[in-house]
Amino acid sequence: MDIRKLERFRAAEGLLACPVCGAPLALEGRALRCAAGHGFDVARQGYVNLLRGGVRLEGYDRASFMDRRRVFAAGLYEPIAAALAEAVSAHAPSGQRVSPPAVGSEPGSAPHAPGSCLTPRVLDAGCGEGYFARELRRRVGARVAAFDISKDSVQLAAAADAGDGIVWFVADLASIPVRPASTDCVLNVFSPANYAEFRRALAPGGIVVKAVPTSRHLQELRAAAAGQLAHAAYENDRVLGHFAESCALVERRTAGGAFPVDAETVRALAAMTPLFFHVDAARVDLRAVRKVTVEAEILVGRMA
Ligand SMILES: [Zn+2]
Repeated sequence: MDIRKLERFRAAEGLLACPVCGAPLALEGRALRCAAGHGFDVARQGYVNLLRGGVRLEGYDRASFMDRRRVFAAGLYEPIAAALAEAVSAHAPSGQRVSPPAVGSEPGSAPHAPGSCLTPRVLDAGCGEGYFARELRRRVGARVAAFDISKDSVQLAAAADAGDGIVWFVADLASIPVRPASTDCVLNVFSPANYAEFRRALAPGGIVVKAVPTSRHLQELRAAAAGQLAHAAYENDRVLGHFAESCALVERRTAGGAFPVDAETVRALAAMTPLFFHVDAARVDLRAVRKVTVEAEILVGRMA
């Protein structure tokens, strides 16, 4: 195994907790172990599975992962990634206990000051293929722990990440295997939330940065599939209400844009969006879609 993929787990010591007994996990050889002797191997791709029992999710297989990667590479989510990074920079307390990222160690990394130890610890809850975790690492120099319940997604994300700044793991949102008060910011992008778990994971003054789609998000795809969708428009009021009840709203802004897209990107978008999971794609004519709107509301909240 690439030694740096192993070292990312040493750098995260004090963060991960044993999913069996809750004790801290430390790297021993090629496995994470707790004092009680529960062990979890670091897979050669550079992630660890802390989910007991496996889960396979509809729409989150390898093909879907590659579609996501294509869409992210096309830059459609770039304004959202930039807004998330700004929100983390502006509002997250800086975790001073973390070790700094190794200087010049990651290809394509940088704008952050090398050697700085004032870098927030970010927990990406529902990381999917890892785009937003990587962007946060690159833009802010944050030390990121990223998890998803989809093992396929985490495996591929870890395999594609050559750096040592992001710890990848498979876990369930209902019981996040991290130590209490071990993170400065929970990132929760287009993904379900568990505020009780977020509260437990956050250090005093910690924040939640959440992205939810606006009603304009993918409106062109929605229009193309209108006959098959149960709801003509996406309403995020319920999600916003739940957020406001769970933490004190610090900032709320909209990020995104409308982008020209080629046919292959439209196909990939339609294949990856949960909007289309129950739609018969063969009956949707996407040929007229030449532009798509990708837009999210970015919510920043502070836990009491
Ligand atoms: Zn244990």
